[in-house]
Amino acid sequence: MAIILDGKKLRDEILADLKAEVDGFKTEPKLVVILVGDDPASKIYVNNKKKKAQQVGIDSEIINYPSDISETALLEKIKELNNDDSVHAILVQLPLPEHISESKVIESISAKKDVDGFTPYNFGKLFSGAKPYVYPCTPKGILLLLDKYNIEIEGKHAVVIGRSNIVGKPVAQMLLNRNATVTVCHSHTKNLADITKTADIIVSAVGKNIIKGEMLKSDCVIVDVGIFKDENGKLRGDVDFDSSSKIASYISPVPGGVGPMTITSLMLNTVELFKLQNEN
Ligand code: NAP
Repeated sequence: MAIILDGKKLRDEILADLKAEVDGFKTEPKLVVILVGDDPASKIYVNNKKKKAQQVGIDSEIINYPSDISETALLEKIKELNNDDSVHAILVQLPLPEHISESKVIESISAKKDVDGFTPYNFGKLFSGAKPYVYPCTPKGILLLLDKYNIEIEGKHAVVIGRSNIVGKPVAQMLLNRNATVTVCHSHTKNLADITKTADIIVSAVGKNIIKGEMLKSDCVIVDVGIFKDENGKLRGDVDFDSSSKIASYISPVPGGVGPMTITSLMLNTVELFKLQNEN
């Protein structure tokens, strides 16, 4: 039976240490989250971020705009936040309404306040193998989880399923930077099972139930990033837990695996950016 990659436990450990560090600061780090529209899932994510920030001693502000805010007004606000020395980290909750260009908005955030690590500067650094100001939250959380359980990455065959800018691409690059041999799969990949059967590490970020035990190599490590609701409204991951946990050596559960690590990374990144901006 696979060992559980326990994201909640690691979150609690990391955030307790972070709180102790933040308690020693003269001023509070400040995170601003911009939410456009009233998507219920986004509202839950944003409120969870605020709650966690409070626990750690990070000041957080949620700015909620109606879905018809203009792109110009949003860009103006980001410019104002970029120039506000009391703000250390800016997060724009995605997705944005169709009339607003996500890339324009992301590109407008100062790289030193880009808590998601999505700006071209931070992404470019990551993809050139250099150190960005911060790493994207979900990929960073995945690597923290693998490292906590001493899972070797170097020389291993890591199969990443999904190629989004939020998860798939950056996690593949971070694994490559750690000397894994990386295969990236997506919706056009043929014979997925032939590829997953050769994987030492699988990171699945799709949002559909696509991995079953019979597709796995014995003792592989599985990180399940996917979250979706099944036909009964139950929260599920990409991986069929029952069949996969019999074959794998380690597996992250949904919920309780990658999700808590993403929010942990957001708090770590906020504090890193705070320290960066307070450097002389
Ligand atoms: P996304 O932008 O929708 O990307 C999904 C990826 O899956 C795409 O690259 C797509 O391929 C690929 N895909 C779709 N069907 C496939 C199939 N049958 N076989 C192989 N690949 C397939 O999603 P995302 O933002 O990366 O998120 C992925 C999942 O992770 C979602 O369930 C999301 O809710 C979850 N998530 C969780 C966290 C967390 O903290 N736990 C954080 C972020 C995301 P194409 O590129 O070819 O379309």
